[in-house]
Amino acid sequence: MNSRYCNVALAVPLRTLFTYAIPEIATDAARPGSRVLVPFRNKSMVGVVVELLDEPPASVQPGVKIRALTKVLDETPALTPKLLELAQWIASYYLAPIGEVLRGMLPPVTDVKMLREVLLTPAGRDAIAQWKLDENAPQNLSECTAEETTFLSRLAEKKGLLAFAAALKTGISAAQLQKLQRRGFVEIRERVTGSARRTQRVIAWKGSSEDTKTPKTDGAAMAEAASGDAATERLRRIRNLLETERGPLPLAQLVKLAGVSRGVIERMLRDGVLESWEEPIDPAEDEFDAGYTPPAHELNAHQESVLRAIRERALLGEFGVQLLFGVTGSGKTEVYLRAVQDALARGKTAIILVPEIALTLWIGRQCRAWFGARFEGVAVLHSALSDVARAREWWRVRNGEARVVVGTRSAIFAPLSNVGLIIVDEEQENSYKQEETPRYHARDVATVRAKMENCLALLGSATPSLESFHNAENGKYELLMLASRVADRAMASVEIIDLREEFQRTAQTSPISAALHVGIQECLEARTQAMILINRRGYSWSLLCRSCGAAVQCENCSISMTYHKARNRLECHYCGSMQSVPLTCPKCQSKYVYFFGEGSEHLEERLRKEFPGARIARLDRDTARTKRQFQETLGAFASGALDILVGTQMLAKGHDFHRVTLVGVVSADSSLTMPDFRAAERTFQLLTQVAGRAGRGDLRGRVLIQTFYPEHYAIQDAVRQDYRGFFDREIQFRKMMAYPPFLALANVIVRDSILERAIQWSRQLSEYFIPHDGKGLRVLGPAAAPLARLKKEHRFQFLVKSPKRSLMTKLLSGAIAYCEEKKIPATAVLVDVDPLSLM
Ligand code: ADP
Ligand code: ZN
Ligand code: ZN
Repeated sequence: MNSRYCNVALAVPLRTLFTYAIPEIATDAARPGSRVLVPFRNKSMVGVVVELLDEPPASVQPGVKIRALTKVLDETPALTPKLLELAQWIASYYLAPIGEVLRGMLPPVTDVKMLREVLLTPAGRDAIAQWKLDENAPQNLSECTAEETTFLSRLAEKKGLLAFAAALKTGISAAQLQKLQRRGFVEIRERVTGSARRTQRVIAWKGSSEDTKTPKTDGAAMAEAASGDAATERLRRIRNLLETERGPLPLAQLVKLAGVSRGVIERMLRDGVLESWEEPIDPAEDEFDAGYTPPAHELNAHQESVLRAIRERALLGEFGVQLLFGVTGSGKTEVYLRAVQDALARGKTAIILVPEIALTLWIGRQCRAWFGARFEGVAVLHSALSDVARAREWWRVRNGEARVVVGTRSAIFAPLSNVGLIIVDEEQENSYKQEETPRYHARDVATVRAKMENCLALLGSATPSLESFHNAENGKYELLMLASRVADRAMASVEIIDLREEFQRTAQTSPISAALHVGIQECLEARTQAMILINRRGYSWSLLCRSCGAAVQCENCSISMTYHKARNRLECHYCGSMQSVPLTCPKCQSKYVYFFGEGSEHLEERLRKEFPGARIARLDRDTARTKRQFQETLGAFASGALDILVGTQMLAKGHDFHRVTLVGVVSADSSLTMPDFRAAERTFQLLTQVAGRAGRGDLRGRVLIQTFYPEHYAIQDAVRQDYRGFFDREIQFRKMMAYPPFLALANVIVRDSILERAIQWSRQLSEYFIPHDGKGLRVLGPAAAPLARLKKEHRFQFLVKSPKRSLMTKLLSGAIAYCEEKKIPATAVLVDVDPLSLM
């Protein structure tokens, strides 16, 4: 009998499932993993069927009418049973609402044209072959009606593929098709049809004039002055979207996000407030790939032996985690590609996770060159793809057309079946952790998915996270090592520039010390390239008052505003709010305000002055606002059209440029002085990673690190490039201070825009926590969070620690239930399990 009810997860902050009745006509189509359209409150929502029920669950009060779902959106359930299982694990481990977890796994709901097709499966072919042999009996055996067998034969004649609509025209019904699918004779699948347009119109905010003294002359300000309140608000919203929140957007998306009409945008374009250009819908892969041949290196002996170990492990066909600890430039990528090749040859599929969108470009290209022709089908998944492109890639994967997926964090949810290998490159990277609900860590999800798929997870890094290396030490992971660079290349030499000495000598603190200046000069003379890393974007970190000492703070956050010179205003890097540059101190009205701390924009300007002949570019979130801009700058640098590349952390990761002989780190200190138990680890990782960008070709590399704390062990170990030494010291510290990986840790934030409410709720929550403190658990707090105000909300914090994770999970789910009972809104309490940042 068909199920009459189903439990549906909806992307709402509530943690319950919702029961719907399945209408008669949909009983065949609604299956676990199917997306369905359901009435919720007074609107329609897309949800996912989590389970089918024959009876309404006991929790539904008798007499309460169960509403029916409106429509089943997928013929083939969008999510596989394994992905559903993974979602359930994430929901319980990270205490995240299941609906929100599932939302992150689904393809974008777009108005793209989906073509529904009916495909003959191998089983279907076999069945037909059998009927051909014996006209009567097997028909009954496979329980097919004459109509259905006729249809299958028709389908076979059509090369095993018919559009769904065409299939119906042969006289078979949708219900019959679904029956055939359930028996495994056909597959009904969805495909995103290629959109004819290859380019789209992208809209950007037109940067205000360079003029710093008269900010009110730019188009925006004039438009602001000229129109009423609603218009000003609209303008502010558009500006916010285009400049801080999202960057340049395709017209259609902007219209949707800003909630304005096309006419409004057109008018603003005419007024010169906005600008537009045509951009390929996907920065065309074929264009990027043209003329590219992947390096075909013979593996060296070290790479060979690592590959052998991976092979042996993979052949077992069971779950396992290997940690590939290979210094920068040791040729890890080459090993990954061969391991993937192996997996494909065994008939399996593979996922490669990388920490940055930019890296999907390089690795995606390599994969397409390696596997594209031979096995067909590499898909790239990341958040910067247009919805259409993402939907297309997603369905290619779901339909089995792509067997290798390269992507960022969320690609761990790629709907591949038959996964044989999951690679997580640079596993230590923070970007693998999602900083909004569900707050999962893709590396950890990768190991869980590997376990569910019964396959191998391969984590790679030049500076493994303490957690992972600890797991290797205690035997949970198998450790593989690549201890030297390929082709006998030397590691770069790392030198410290002591800024205290520099200051004593020059009585100045320039971000470019004398030694760094000389280094760059030498680089220019030798016609090699330099990369200069600075940790902040913008022109000045903050605007300070000499009279009262106050910094200009964001009105929504307890954080100082950053000055951006080209845009001539102050910006908050947390919430995106902006304000004009005040001439007097907002607190004491003194006019002695000054800019403090140089950011990337300032540094670029300074370098241009100090090295007038040099070709310089900057790479940070302000200059690389689109994937294309990013690609262009990196391309120019790779081709030798630039001498110096200045930038933020974006520069530190994974790039393989062969003519870089100098890497300068303007300051190692800001990451070191963060109030966070991971500060030392982060600093060590960052320095090792940037050092890894130098000397990757035949030329020797040199790294100059400027710091006020030259004796700090994180810096000393980075100079010696001594991971082991660093690990041994740091792990002692973690043990002593009772921090992860020795304990499970969670950060609970209580937040509200009204201070009294935030205080009251944290008090209430504290009442729940107190009795549990001490019983194998520690609960610290409530205390004001380090970011005591963020995006207009007041924030209080609890830290929960336990040597036993199950205790912590139980306590936290109890806390959530308690909040529900006390009517503390679900959105006011934020639970971050395994937090990377305690801000
Ligand atoms: P990692 O990811 O370990 O930092 P990469 O995989 O980027 O290192 O490799 C560094 C460089 O060495 C790349 O340019 C790559 O093409 C090259 N390479 C890899 N394996 C070999 C090899 N066996 N012989 C020579 N060059 C190699
Ligand atoms: Zn002041
Ligand atoms: Zn802010």
